[in-house]
Amino acid sequence: MSATLHTAVADASAACGAACDGPLPVLGRDVTVPLVTGGETVYAALDYAASAPALQRVWDDVAAYAPYYGSVHRGAGYLSQLSTDLFEQSRAAVAAFLDCRPADQVVFTRSTTDSLNLLAAALPAGCRVFVFETEHHASLLPWGDEQVTYLDAPRTPAEAVATLERALADRGPSPSSRLRSGAGGPNGPALVCVTGASNVTGELWPVKELAAAAHAHGARIVLDAAQLAPHHPVSVRGLDVDWVAFSGHKLYAPFGSGVLAGRADWLQQARPYLAGGGASRSVARREDGGVDVAWHTGAARHEAGSPNVIGAYAIASACRALAEAGFDTLVARERRLVARIREGLAAVPGVRVLSLFGDDAPRVGVISFVVEGWNSSHFAAALSAEYGIGVRDGLFCAHPLVRTLLGGAPQEPGACDAPAARRPGERPLNAIRVSFGAG
Ligand code: PLP
Repeated sequence: MSATLHTAVADASAACGAACDGPLPVLGRDVTVPLVTGGETVYAALDYAASAPALQRVWDDVAAYAPYYGSVHRGAGYLSQLSTDLFEQSRAAVAAFLDCRPADQVVFTRSTTDSLNLLAAALPAGCRVFVFETEHHASLLPWGDEQVTYLDAPRTPAEAVATLERALADRGPSPSSRLRSGAGGPNGPALVCVTGASNVTGELWPVKELAAAAHAHGARIVLDAAQLAPHHPVSVRGLDVDWVAFSGHKLYAPFGSGVLAGRADWLQQARPYLAGGGASRSVARREDGGVDVAWHTGAARHEAGSPNVIGAYAIASACRALAEAGFDTLVARERRLVARIREGLAAVPGVRVLSLFGDDAPRVGVISFVVEGWNSSHFAAALSAEYGIGVRDGLFCAHPLVRTLLGGAPQEPGACDAPAARRPGERPLNAIRVSFGAG
């Protein structure tokens, strides 16, 4: 490694190491990694935005559930009943964590991606969808080409609200709605999908203001809280959003479970996301040879098959742990760490921290940067190899946003794998992300 890269990597590692300076006791998870200064080796996976390590308390709760392990909503056996109770209590715990309205429904899914695809499949005929190009692909891609309008990247939160208002005010009927029954158009159904915190810049989006704008124009809004929920309180009522989606594995629970919570009506009118047992109340052969199906109402309508009961239980455990730790403490601590890392990175020659809304924007513990003149993949590899700091490099499943922030023309997928380590004078092709949380 050349001296210059070595110096830059050492400086960046010290800055990133600010996120792991000793035990992180807030949630009771004792991460005893040594501080990264003076070239000392550390072992830290600062990639919480991808998946945060599950809390010990969550593992303990899951182990404590083992004696009650049984199928839900099926058997008359005692274990099955206990398991069903625990599953439904998990739903209630998630609803409490999200401060849902009494009539809201919590559907357990596999992930945020799954939740948003479920909602996409449940949209009423002629529904228009509005989404900023800055979103994670999970929010960007589930919608049909004919129904979706992509909004340009705003440069301030106020511009985001104004852009959305303009788009909603100007909306005409979707092409598909005209073919159907005249539904859609300015008064037809519309959905806005927006992230609460960016998985690239960590910046908070003006969700409450966007929700007010959506409702003022007769639209609904779904909040992608994959990055927000692990760091900030999310109140469905307070933000006045119609749905919230998030993933267990980013919220200190294990992989494999997620949540879609919110209004029941569109979900109840839709065909089940998965057809099968659990979603069907009654199935009978017809004389013409087919079958008549009566589908369940409630969350079960979209939870066909044997659900991930342990995943739901783990999410509920993580929700309780976060609520008990108190978001005031978590947010304050994370703000301090973010400020230290940003200060440290600002002092490293050639480092540019990526930001859409500017340096003063409130943000969670997700920071992306480039080091001018260096290939981000090589830099990230050096951070890991030389200092044991695991970060992420790439375009973070938000290709349009990262390309906008890097200030360049679109690249072909795979271009970020360009082999040259040194790229003097060249625009960076991808970025480095360091992300952490209170767990
Ligand atoms: N939304 C945002 C903002 C994300 O950061 C991610 C994952 O990184 C997702 C959605 C998708 O989450 P999952 O992979 O758990 O479905």
